[in-house]
Amino acid sequence: MIRYQITSADPASHYFDLRVTIDDPDPAGQAFRLPNWIPGSYKIRDFARNLLDLRAASGGQPVALEQLDKSSWRAAPCAGPLELAYKVYANDLSVRAAHLDHTHGYYNGSSVFVEIVGCADEPCEVAIERPPPGYCADWRVATALPRAGAEAFGFGAYRAADYAELIDHPVEMGDFLRIPFEACGVPHDVILSGRFACDAERLAADLTKICELHIRFFGKPAPMDYYQFQVLVVGDGYGGLEHRASTSLIASRKSLPQPGAQKVSDEYRDFLGLCSHEYFHSWNVKRIKPDVFESYDLQREVYTPLLWAFEGITSYYDELALVRAGLIDEASYLELLGQAMTRVARGLGRTRQSIAESSFNAWTKFYQQDENAANAIVSYYTKGALVAACIDLKIREASGGRYSLDDVMRRLWQAWRSDERGVAPRRIQALASELAGADLSPLLEAWIDGTDELPLAELLQTVGVEVETRAASNAQDKGGKPVDGELPAAAIGALLKDGEFGVAIQRVDEGGAAQRAGLAAGDEIVAVGGLRLKLAAFEQQLLRAQPGERWQVHAFRRDELHVFDVELEPAPATTIVLRATDANADARRAWLQSG
Ligand code: ZN
Repeated sequence: MIRYQITSADPASHYFDLRVTIDDPDPAGQAFRLPNWIPGSYKIRDFARNLLDLRAASGGQPVALEQLDKSSWRAAPCAGPLELAYKVYANDLSVRAAHLDHTHGYYNGSSVFVEIVGCADEPCEVAIERPPPGYCADWRVATALPRAGAEAFGFGAYRAADYAELIDHPVEMGDFLRIPFEACGVPHDVILSGRFACDAERLAADLTKICELHIRFFGKPAPMDYYQFQVLVVGDGYGGLEHRASTSLIASRKSLPQPGAQKVSDEYRDFLGLCSHEYFHSWNVKRIKPDVFESYDLQREVYTPLLWAFEGITSYYDELALVRAGLIDEASYLELLGQAMTRVARGLGRTRQSIAESSFNAWTKFYQQDENAANAIVSYYTKGALVAACIDLKIREASGGRYSLDDVMRRLWQAWRSDERGVAPRRIQALASELAGADLSPLLEAWIDGTDELPLAELLQTVGVEVETRAASNAQDKGGKPVDGELPAAAIGALLKDGEFGVAIQRVDEGGAAQRAGLAAGDEIVAVGGLRLKLAAFEQQLLRAQPGERWQVHAFRRDELHVFDVELEPAPATTIVLRATDANADARRAWLQSG
């Protein structure tokens, strides 16, 4: 048994104070380490950079420590028990690390609890201590970590069967709103922290539908006997991370259902999609997982070509679940799918990188995107979701509607339940072929390992959906729906936003008009034809322009003013709109209503 204690003498300092007791330390000297990354977020984050004041003692006497690398140490041999003490600076307001101030405390175990090398399979106990009285007097504790003496939602003792479980239950402490509900008999809680207004009843009702849909999709019983949605509500933010019996989310205030509102706003639809996404992960990646994730090496990168199957397929089902659960209508779902197709179509990176390569290089590319990302890489989330749609529609077509990707997922789940082994790289192709009754492997491999355009338009026809393409109406146009007004015929080949003085260039299309003229991401256009303008005026001017027209553009690069001669290009038709037709309506209904 490894015993941890976490507290904070002064939340305003952002320091968590940690104590770890090892009763029987390694007689040769006990090694311990902090993870360098957190499962679900594939980037080396070096959490040990926030660790300080590390000391070791045994029987009241100091024990010497040797540092082995950036995140590992070894205590000199001692009789035990060995006690470690350290602080962790917690000021990262994300779902991946730890945050502590006078408003709340939050941590992932991977940011605060050192792993005792050689003892990862031993049970752990953690005492979550109440911070000093004062502004923390009303604080409670929210976590899916099993209790070992603590009252429900109280400070005190919690336990984990092993280190992997210890760090897979994030902890929120503060004065939060708890919204309980049940899904298929399993108790769930939404924990809302921050400042917000929320129609709690509606949120509980909508999440119940989503959770029950996912549980029934894979088949009862649910893989967890309790589940918690931990939501930190902020002015502007979006993100989520999946865990075995909970998820940590960051959401903007306006994404919650407002009291009195009837409609599903675009922001609330995104929030429900995020909840749906993380909940689907309870099966797909937390349990069904790539073979190399069977046991994580948290000190270094773990490479897999399969993230598309865990993030892409999950992204496909997160939105599909909203229409299947009746929370959005068919048109709203087709808008979301059209937006995903638009995002992929607008990036040249799709012609360079396959989703398998994108998965493999997530650590250095997808998770470390720069201004050239759209030209250089493809998202294994977004294109992965489109490949999932292709696989789904292809199996439906080939099997005459008997099977679908739903059945592939259920078979993966059955396989995991029987042996708890990870998924090997070609497994999905094999299962899809089996269900389709035809060898789909060459086709699927082209979609997964290749960069040719996906045949999604043809496949969508089999479920009575037409794909239309058009130019983008302005910088805010995410696609997915038709526009009433006029569309520009000309474009500058750059993604723009309002800047401090004029129009900021967020990125340029490789080989596009802006780049050919010498403009670059980070430049700020301040005048066209010698006249100052902001984004709205710039877009108005584009509406009246023709391809081939030349514009004299003044722009700042850093603090230097430059003049560029831009020859406008034809506006690309990469904005996609989907429309349901009368044909194949039965197949469409089966697709959007099954599950
Ligand atoms: Zn995900």
